[in-house]
Amino acid sequence: MNKGIEIARGKTKILYEHPDNPDQLVVKQTDAITAGDGARRHEIPGKGRLAAQTTARVFRLLNLCGLPTHYLSGGEDDDANEMLVRRCAMIPLEVVVRGVAAGSLVRRNPTLVKGTPLVPRVVEFFLKDDAAHDPLIGADEIVARSIADPNEVAAMSELARLTFEILSHAWRRRNVLLVDLKVEFGRLVSGEGKGQLVLADVIDNDAWRIWPQGREELMLDKQLYRNLDTVDSQGLDRVREAYERVANLTSDFPVMRPAAAAVIAAGSADVEPATAIAQALGQFGLPVVRRVADPVTTPGFVLQAVQQLEAALMRVVFVAVGDRALKEMLEYAAASPVLDGRDDPRAVALRAAKILGVDDTVSYGRVLLMQAALRSAVLHADAALQQPSQPPAGTLA
Ligand code: 5GP
Repeated sequence: MNKGIEIARGKTKILYEHPDNPDQLVVKQTDAITAGDGARRHEIPGKGRLAAQTTARVFRLLNLCGLPTHYLSGGEDDDANEMLVRRCAMIPLEVVVRGVAAGSLVRRNPTLVKGTPLVPRVVEFFLKDDAAHDPLIGADEIVARSIADPNEVAAMSELARLTFEILSHAWRRRNVLLVDLKVEFGRLVSGEGKGQLVLADVIDNDAWRIWPQGREELMLDKQLYRNLDTVDSQGLDRVREAYERVANLTSDFPVMRPAAAAVIAAGSADVEPATAIAQALGQFGLPVVRRVADPVTTPGFVLQAVQQLEAALMRVVFVAVGDRALKEMLEYAAASPVLDGRDDPRAVALRAAKILGVDDTVSYGRVLLMQAALRSAVLHADAALQQPSQPPAGTLA
């Protein structure tokens, strides 16, 4: 990739300006691996490539789900391990989300048994400061030190938690338990959404703990390197093999499994509600097929449509719009799930996305984001109600 001047260098990556676009940066991941705030450091040939592939696939998945990230392109097939990102002012915090007790959480809480599931998830902030060993920092102190404002602290918590749930789902589908995860945020410095908080930095095999089959002894992440008593070439080979497996396992993270919703209207009067449902389904990015088929006057046609759609589409959810007869007919004729299209279109679409999200991480992620957006709209509306209302002009308080 064409690069401009180097503007920053981390322990495992180098940032360059984009030669033609000041709003963008090129991130190059290197072969370095470090632990103990840089106290231990080695090179693993090829690690930069595996890290760039993993990061690109993770960010592409998160982008597909609708999370705001700095990632634009590259990283995957690019020989120089480089990706293109939107330029951010980084917030000097590491945001850690934990779904299972491990690592420093267990060290800080000796009564907590390693492996205990954590519900709700634990979200922690650490100040990025190698010299002080990245100390834990509370929300109040983040605000008091003007590192971020209270809304940003809440947004980082929520976005990190959503990232964790989406990546948990992706790993679970590969029979791997995501134990914990570290992410970092930045504010876009220019262009559309200037100032907006986005997931930034890299998210690779250094940034999480992953236990295949939920078994710690099968771990595939950087903990393998941290755990080496003495670092020799055999140990580093084992670490490289694990990183290679992880990069391979993430290769189809950003792939949406083919699926569609088939909205069947019983008659012409049902076309309008069917259109509203198709629009609501579109918000989840689900392809929609629409048909009109009446179970009373054209029962054979309904059965034929079901057979055709189930043969043509790999996974399908039917939505019956019309009287009860259509829903019942579809229920017994189709092998796929059937939803009642007489319910609220938004609820029907959410249900369809949830069903398809059981084995598709993109649909699952979009459901989580939709729910988070609705929750935040309700909280905003409630907060607005709690504001003391202004007396109309001219009235005495
Ligand atoms: P812990 O606080 O238990 O040591 O780490 C929690 C999670 O954050 C683990 O998944 C760990 O890999 C990740 N993590 C903690 N510190 C760093 C760091 O400096 N860099 C990276 N890439 N990940 C970190």
